Amino acid sequence: MTTAVDERTSRAPTQALRSWLTELGRALETGDVEAATSLFGVDSYWRDLVTFTWNITTVEGQAGIADLLRTTLQQTRPHTVAIEGDATEQDGIIEGWFTFETVTARGRGHVRLKDGKGWTLLTTNTELKDNTAHAGPHREKGVQHGAVRDRETWLDRKTAEERELGYARQPYVVIIGGGQGGIVLGARLKRLGVPAIIVDKHPRPGDSWRSRY
Ligand SMILES: Cc1cc2nc3c(=O)[nH]c(=O)nc-3n(C[C@H](O)[C@H](O)[C@H](O)COP(=O)(O)OP(=O)(O)OC[C@H]3O[C@@H](n4cnc5c(N)ncnc54)[C@H](O)[C@@H]3O)c2cc1C
Repeated sequence: MTTAVDERTSRAPTQALRSWLTELGRALETGDVEAATSLFGVDSYWRDLVTFTWNITTVEGQAGIADLLRTTLQQTRPHTVAIEGDATEQDGIIEGWFTFETVTARGRGHVRLKDGKGWTLLTTNTELKDNTAHAGPHREKGVQHGAVRDRETWLDRKTAEERELGYARQPYVVIIGGGQGGIVLGARLKRLGVPAIIVDKHPRPGDSWRSRY
């Protein structure tokens, strides 16, 4: 059961984080690198997974953060920075999640504040706009139910794809290595509608495990 004391203590860190995020959001939206950088402490880190840099990047300190902002703000144009859920506080560190958008993506981030200043910031990409993943209700069914003349079976479509992809139709992505990581990446790209081919030194998917065990 949540007590009045719990609520008061969770509200204080939440309010602190919300106002820090509001200031960050304003600075990012107006392209004010100096104002954004001044929200971080001297000892600070920003790890970006794709959203700002299209890469996995970590920068350190105010100079590193300013540098990353200068090279990415114009193309990404971040906005709608908003706290997600309540912040927590432990040993003087306030932390919590937030959501944001850029011109091409929706993202989720995590921040930790030390002495009211940004200490660690994580920004991740949850979705590319205008490219909704074929997941959940949009998921490819595999099987088409009902009586349809000249209906192709799942196997027909699979065989046609094997015949065409890489020959008549070129993939956007070639994944070298069809182990755990390669297969997961291939499945994810398929959901995003990005044609990809996985090549492996073994003849069949999963052979690296078959030959191991
Ligand atoms: C004995 C053992 C037990 C394990 N048990 C577990 C467990 O119980 N649970 C768990 O979560 N993890 C377990 N792991 C770890 C797990 O298997 C690995 O973390 C995981 O497979 C790594 O995935 P990956 O895609 O990075 O690499 P891999 O699965 O190794 O895939 C790499 C693929 O690249 C291919 N390849 C390599 N070089 C080339 C090339 N030049 N050209 C083309 N293809 C190439 C290989 O054939 C392979 O298919 C275990 C690992 C071992 C060795």
